[in-house]
Amino acid sequence: MRLRNITGSREVIGESRFVVHEEKEQRGRWKEIFGNENPIRAEIGMGKGRFIMDLAKQNPDVNYIGIEKYSSVLLRAIQKMEEEPLDNVRFIRMDAEEITDVFAEGELDRIYLNFSDPWPKDRHAKRRLPSRQFLERYDKILKKDGVIEFKTDNRPLFDFALEELEPAGWRADAVTFDLHADPVLNEGNIMTEYEEKFSSVGNPICKYIIRR
Ligand code: SAM
Repeated sequence: MRLRNITGSREVIGESRFVVHEEKEQRGRWKEIFGNENPIRAEIGMGKGRFIMDLAKQNPDVNYIGIEKYSSVLLRAIQKMEEEPLDNVRFIRMDAEEITDVFAEGELDRIYLNFSDPWPKDRHAKRRLPSRQFLERYDKILKKDGVIEFKTDNRPLFDFALEELEPAGWRADAVTFDLHADPVLNEGNIMTEYEEKFSSVGNPICKYIIRR
């Protein structure tokens, strides 16, 4: 996903009205950014942003924040927003490891993780976005009844994510190992860029919805 050497991506991001800069200063004040009391949901590792923008179009009464680590990838999302601006979407360029510095307790009501990087080596497990270390961070910023939705075609990563739930104090509301064949969970499903790519070559998509 990382697109290297896109000239000027940092400059474009620095000037974009769709990107929240100085994001740590907004901690506890995200409602002010959107100017309303609507719930705030975030996708961590949003890539080029198609999922979150499609979701935002369907749900104008919900605010969405797309978080992406790499400027070169975020640039693609900004370009899409320039074509079709959405009032209820903002982007942050950051590493999600710092997420508790950016959101206050209970500030988010849902977190989406889509096709998160697998970090296959055991010693990198804590970098995986559905790891217990990240679940602990999400616990601090999600509302009490908030949920996390995770989709991936990577079965070892999904199995790992399921094993992390109990030790981290979370439980599954719903689990499927073949989302597109599950009439209930697939209803209203919005495909991500990676989901389209991997399901088109026959990979089943796994999904969970979890809460504490
Ligand atoms: N969610 C998109 C999709 O499903 O099409 C993109 C999936 S892509 C495999 C994973 C994305 O997560 C990449 O763009 C990567 O840069 C981003 N990412 C990985 N680790 C991250 C982190 N710690 N903080 C923020 N973004 C991260």
